[in-house]
Amino acid sequence: LTDMEKSEGRQTGKKVVAVVGGGLVGALNACYFAKRGFNVHVYESREDIRKAKIVKGRSINLALSHRGRQALKRVGMEDKIISKGIPMHARMIHSLSGKQSPIPYGKKGQYILSVDRANLNKELLTEAETYPNTKLNFDHKLQDWSADTGLMTFSRTDGSKDQIHADLIVGCDGAFSAIRKQFLRRSRFNYSQTYIPHGYMELTMPPINGEFAMKPNYLHIWPRNTFMMIALPNLDKTFTCTLFMPFEDFEKITTGDEVIQFFQNYFPDTIPLIGAEALKKDYFRLPAQAMVSVKCTPYHIGEKCVLMGDAAHAVVPFYGQGMNAGFEDCIVFDELMEQFNEDFSAVLPEYTKVRVPDDHAIADLAMYNYVEMRAHVNSKWFLFRKHVDNV
Ligand code: FAD
Repeated sequence: LTDMEKSEGRQTGKKVVAVVGGGLVGALNACYFAKRGFNVHVYESREDIRKAKIVKGRSINLALSHRGRQALKRVGMEDKIISKGIPMHARMIHSLSGKQSPIPYGKKGQYILSVDRANLNKELLTEAETYPNTKLNFDHKLQDWSADTGLMTFSRTDGSKDQIHADLIVGCDGAFSAIRKQFLRRSRFNYSQTYIPHGYMELTMPPINGEFAMKPNYLHIWPRNTFMMIALPNLDKTFTCTLFMPFEDFEKITTGDEVIQFFQNYFPDTIPLIGAEALKKDYFRLPAQAMVSVKCTPYHIGEKCVLMGDAAHAVVPFYGQGMNAGFEDCIVFDELMEQFNEDFSAVLPEYTKVRVPDDHAIADLAMYNYVEMRAHVNSKWFLFRKHVDNV
């Protein structure tokens, strides 16, 4: 969108939309509401990640797919993001003996993209800020809010508190959403959360002689039935390897030598690529992280509040669709805004109605792919079927 188009979007007297959470979905959503001319305020608990030295958060990179790209396109961000993405045309399955076999994701020419999470988040925040009717407020952690009045209370790191009013509150504050807490107190709100027994740990595979250590245009997978490792390429020619394994197995490994022994048994081809010394250190740098799946319904309260992204539907990462589904939430909501003339009292219930079944389906597929990636992808039956499919 040109600056002119963005300025034209500004209309004084338009309603105030508070987007709580300036992560991936919140930052993109801010662009969608700003484009419609609302007075948009984003409240993010962290400091501005564009200025921070260390950005804390989850996975270093992510797979961006078609539905996510469509959502970026509508706010003019697709080209900017894909120019910094690395196409992955196929999974590359690493057998125990080190043999590599590609399994394409789709037809020839189709691919998903490995993108840097921090860069994507920064670009979306910068884009949101180019709208004159958007204000980003960092160091604002939502403490509480009222579904009756729309009054929100934020705490700051200096101990002060801010009270702010909005016409519409959009909860994009992630899997442990503070906005969602109010929903839990209400009658007829269904909610479930499940922690899977697996945790994840990220390890870096550095470049070798300035080049990628493995073929870059693949999502590498080492399926080992009850656990697995994957690796996605980064622009700096490193790979981020993610080891998914039951917590109890992570905990069994307590010394550097045990790490090497474990890798020798299950991922021998990666030891020279990651480096034995680095592996011994990296493994103990951070504890394995938990993964949670959250399902709930409805996604809205009256005409006052709506949940999107992980706040509405945190999914396990095995389908690579958490962010993509969250981005698609923004499109669906925007289309309903068009259809119902921005009447929140009509848009919000309809959003719940059309979106809950699809998001719940993604959550189920992700849970299914949890087994598919570490086990079925390994089975003779699967490889046979893929072989037949490809012929
Ligand atoms: P988040 O990214 O969690 O952002 C929430 C924001 O809200 C944060 O900035 C947080 O600081 C802020 N916040 C939290 N609480 C408050 C508060 N009280 N007040 C104010 N602000 C608050 N998805 C994919 O599509 N493809 C992938 O390949 C993929 N890989 C993944 C790999 C792993 C290991 C994991 C864990 C997830 C993966 N995902 C992937 C899922 C993806 O990370 C999430 O779906 C996505 O981050 C959701 O974005 P969000 O903005 O809804 O939530």
